Amino acid sequence: MKSYLSSRAEQIKPSGIRRFFDMANSVEGVISLGVGEPDFITHWSICEASIKSLERGNTSYTDDAGLMELRREIAFYMQSRFQVAYTPESEIIVTVGGSQALDLSLRAILNPGDEVLIIEPSYLAYAPLVTLAGGIPVPVKTTLDSKFKPMSEQIQQAIHSNTKAIILCSPNNPTGSFLNKEELEEISEIIIEHDLLVITDEIYAELTYDESFCSIASIAGMRERTIIISGFSKAFAMTGWRLGYICAPEGFSQQMLKIHQNTMLCAPSVAQYGAIEALRNGHQQVEEMRNSYRNRRNFVVKSLNEMGLDCHLPGGAFYVFPSIRSTGLTSEQFAESLLLQEKVAVVPGSVFGEGGEGHVRCSYASSMDALREAMRRMEKFVKNVQLVSS
Ligand code: PMP
Repeated sequence: MKSYLSSRAEQIKPSGIRRFFDMANSVEGVISLGVGEPDFITHWSICEASIKSLERGNTSYTDDAGLMELRREIAFYMQSRFQVAYTPESEIIVTVGGSQALDLSLRAILNPGDEVLIIEPSYLAYAPLVTLAGGIPVPVKTTLDSKFKPMSEQIQQAIHSNTKAIILCSPNNPTGSFLNKEELEEISEIIIEHDLLVITDEIYAELTYDESFCSIASIAGMRERTIIISGFSKAFAMTGWRLGYICAPEGFSQQMLKIHQNTMLCAPSVAQYGAIEALRNGHQQVEEMRNSYRNRRNFVVKSLNEMGLDCHLPGGAFYVFPSIRSTGLTSEQFAESLLLQEKVAVVPGSVFGEGGEGHVRCSYASSMDALREAMRRMEKFVKNVQLVSS
């Protein structure tokens, strides 16, 4: 019988993370360090702004590219916070989460057979989105030795004549790794030398703990070859609102807008009104969340190292990515046994691609009480494993 299915869709593997979430949901009393979302709820002033928009009857489609008022706020925010200038009229598109922004940017730039470098371990959606857009994902492996920062030689080696773009994500999901200005300059040199594009996923830009965030678009010669992906999910604790945005030179953004017009029309209007309030008045709240995440990061990294799991201090996001090699277990075995024996859910590093095996991802976007108890349980688990294997 002939296949009725798209070969691109068929190439996509089922999500490895899903199996663990389903398993964790079936166990009672679990402390989950699995999910990648803030434990904070959206600040009430943002919710109120949205409710008021509904009371005013603002329930229609907005401009395709998003409310002009919101695009102006995004332009102001990007300029004042990260020193990158984009024109609200033609270079900013409001999207359904950073997820749609990623999809649009890949679909706008890829032709069949174009290769896209992905720094791994990486966010799970990158490779499937490249495949769905007709491209070929090419992993660039990073390891704990370099604190999961990509090495220039490895990037150089992965570049071929078909290489079109590289996806960067700093601060990173799943490793928390952060690239500072000097590191981005080094990568930029390679990108310019090989005439590549960059899709920079800046969804965690507000969540850096030791150094301030630098956008690769602010580096000389990079703006014209950079597409910025960002959104409200992480910084403003708005995951369920499904709101993100793209900042990119007109030549790219106008192509993306055509795809957006046909696939989405516009992002949800009610969320856009909330986002205006978030950008105008939400910075104190972001600061408070950032400080709270920093404390939790410090606690979790210290605890993991003390129990013998080698863990670097990640510069941002809300993940740690400790090595579990000392236990002699694979990351899947570790995650599964920890869940069943001690009821703590973490994600096996193997699901995040090359360089992920030998590690697990723990999200510290949980209350301090939950984190303390999770660390106590993990320590007990690790001690038992080491006793059994010695
Ligand atoms: N990029 C990264 C690195 C992420 O971790 C996530 C969410 N987990 C996204 C993009 C997508 O975020 P959203 O669609 O909620 O904006």
